[in-house]
Amino acid sequence: MRVVKAKDELKQIIVEYKKQGKRIGFVPTMGYLHEGHLSLVSKAKEIADIVVMSIFVNPIQFGPNEDFDKYPRDFARDEKLAESAGVDIIFYPSVAEMYNDSFQTYVDVEGVSKNLCGAKREGHFRGVSTVVLKLFNIVKPDAAVFGIKDAQQVRVIEKMTEDLDVDVEIVRGEIVREKDGLALSSRNKYLSETERQEALCLRQTLLFVKSIVLAGERNTQKIKEKVLDFLKNNNYSPKIDYIELVDFATMKKLEILEGDVLAAVAFYIGKTRLIDNILLKI
Ligand code: AMP
Repeated sequence: MRVVKAKDELKQIIVEYKKQGKRIGFVPTMGYLHEGHLSLVSKAKEIADIVVMSIFVNPIQFGPNEDFDKYPRDFARDEKLAESAGVDIIFYPSVAEMYNDSFQTYVDVEGVSKNLCGAKREGHFRGVSTVVLKLFNIVKPDAAVFGIKDAQQVRVIEKMTEDLDVDVEIVRGEIVREKDGLALSSRNKYLSETERQEALCLRQTLLFVKSIVLAGERNTQKIKEKVLDFLKNNNYSPKIDYIELVDFATMKKLEILEGDVLAAVAFYIGKTRLIDNILLKI
């Protein structure tokens, strides 16, 4: 496995691989790797000859009061995990390598980025789509794998590639969870022992939503009311950032559920903001 920090060097390496007719698979991450990231690598290995993983905590997708500075980082650990998962190249640029002092161009995907996390984290998806397009231009992947854990991000990237004619196949990876249902996330590291227990309420809420939808409930307002009762009755008291039911393709809010519905939650567990979701086919 090679670690490359300079984009020009990586571009050269990719040119060589392409000359040999190799298919490039790409897994963008912010590091502090877990099994969720590694499952995306497995998927990339199935569809490509060479797997490139980027590890880059992207400053422009964090708001001023968010956790950019304290976001967990451990490159030595990531290197070992990536190598054992079969990554061929880690792209590990510095912030200066990605954004020079005169940087001034951003990608803003409109509709699908506006609800959910887009409404709560101003500028977040602009930062995500900008860095992903830059990474695509550096890595030139044939396919890139993104986790449905960040379902809105997947739709933003899919829309960006469609709208801007970016020739990269976007592949969706399933959510990897702990045995008790908590979705793996680098941010789980922030949780104390009691918060770790409380964090189960995200998955529990989504399973509850699924159960009432299966029982025939289609009215979003009623579902939200029932969720609040459910949380109270189970002694969960997260700070709710959002509970939303949206059309998965457009990310538009639905009053009455229909089609492919994404039920998505963002809760603060203590100071840690966690997200999770479930797809419901109505
Ligand atoms: P991050 O490092 O958090 O930016 O995530 C990098 C990629 O890993 C994104 O495509 C995420 O959606 C994906 N990812 C994060 N957590 C999980 C998980 N629990 N299961 C599957 N994919 C995940």
